[in-house]
Amino acid sequence: MTVNLTDEERALRDRTREFGTEHIQPDAMEYVESGEWPWDIYEKAAQEGLIGLPFEAEYGGQDASLVEQSLVAQEFCRADSSVGIALHGSMTGCHAMSSLGTPGQKERWLEPVTRGEMTTAIGLTEPDSGSALAETTTTAEKDGDEYVINGEKDWIANGVSGDWVATLCRTDPDPDKPHRGLSLIVVPTDADGYEAEEREKLGLDAAEHARLTYDDVRVPQANLLGEEEGKGFYQALDWLEHGRVDIAAAHLGMAEGAFDRALARAKDREQGGQRIGDYQGMRWKLADMRKQIEVANSQVYRAARAIDEAEAGGEVEESLIEQASIAKLYATEIACEVAEEAVQIFGGAGYGTDEEVEHFYRDVKAGTIYEGTSEIQRNTIGKVLFDEL
Ligand SMILES: Cc1cc2nc3c(=O)[nH]c(=O)nc-3n(C[C@H](O)[C@H](O)[C@H](O)COP(=O)(O)OP(=O)(O)OC[C@H]3O[C@@H](n4cnc5c(N)ncnc54)[C@H](O)[C@@H]3O)c2cc1C
Repeated sequence: MTVNLTDEERALRDRTREFGTEHIQPDAMEYVESGEWPWDIYEKAAQEGLIGLPFEAEYGGQDASLVEQSLVAQEFCRADSSVGIALHGSMTGCHAMSSLGTPGQKERWLEPVTRGEMTTAIGLTEPDSGSALAETTTTAEKDGDEYVINGEKDWIANGVSGDWVATLCRTDPDPDKPHRGLSLIVVPTDADGYEAEEREKLGLDAAEHARLTYDDVRVPQANLLGEEEGKGFYQALDWLEHGRVDIAAAHLGMAEGAFDRALARAKDREQGGQRIGDYQGMRWKLADMRKQIEVANSQVYRAARAIDEAEAGGEVEESLIEQASIAKLYATEIACEVAEEAVQIFGGAGYGTDEEVEHFYRDVKAGTIYEGTSEIQRNTIGKVLFDEL
């Protein structure tokens, strides 16, 4: 499986890297400190054609491959872990919309995202159901030509600032198996009865995550995603392999961002009459960080390429879900280790909020939790090993 990039892919990577240097890095610390969502940067990214890449060209996207999407996610987060995730997370509801939406739904709810005018959310997790998605309790009951939605969601990216939430609801209260009675329904965030409270959290300060309450929220039945009810569980998992690789790429970028800063510091800071990077103890740290990043890079693009090839109808030997889980597990875990070592290389300065590595260190941790925890990735790999998947 080749992981070499084509000329076009390399050009996209370089263009995004340049965007990161010119438009993300200079103002990132301001957004991290203020906790504001980086709308200015988002609009510029959309103008540069860096938002909504995976979606159909007809709706403003670029029909981009997973390799291309991953390169953009990686470079956004390399420029800044917090702003990068905010930009990247603007589209979380769109993957379901892109694959399931009607032309009318896409015109209304997808196209404005690619223009940088809208952000979206996917509401799966609830206070009492996270890893076990089938235990979703939020209900959507039919009343005339509407659904009436009641329940709670938690940790939803863009729950406050986003325009709509693709909400996983129980439409069949009594299915033969719990995962069969679920549906994805679009809920505009200005609907009566919808409330979102922003969460205080460890990191990702420029991004926004919220606890949502749906109290008799009424939406038209036409807001159902997909042709029939009861498919929501499968639809939510439909993007699973892509989502895992995509997040792996974002966290690979964070690891690189922390590494870049640590290397620069090791070449610049002097102690005991020499650069700290001239101490073997520091160099070995940097060598190990570099090694981890290179291996993660290979795995992320191996998985992305395999998924792209399979989608194009090619024959792929690997289990795609296993490859995606390995990429997500490895890249997010090494990102935590690399960011921790970056703080160590900075010494006391790395513990201060005026150094970027401080928030990279706080931000990377989310990667081992969202899009399936590390334990869930290990479960997946284990199931493949025992022919259960
Ligand atoms: C920053 C951030 C952003 C997020 N964004 C979104 C979003 O936009 N939309 C959304 O819907 N959700 C989002 N989430 C929620 C996230 O997807 C869940 O937190 C995650 O799926 C874990 O669910 P949980 O928190 O309920 O933990 P639990 O499922 O309660 O897990 C607790 C612990 O038990 C372990 N565990 C659970 N089940 C198993 C098992 N079968 N085998 C082994 N170990 C197990 C877990 O690995 C974990 O260590 C976000 C979370 C964070 C932190």
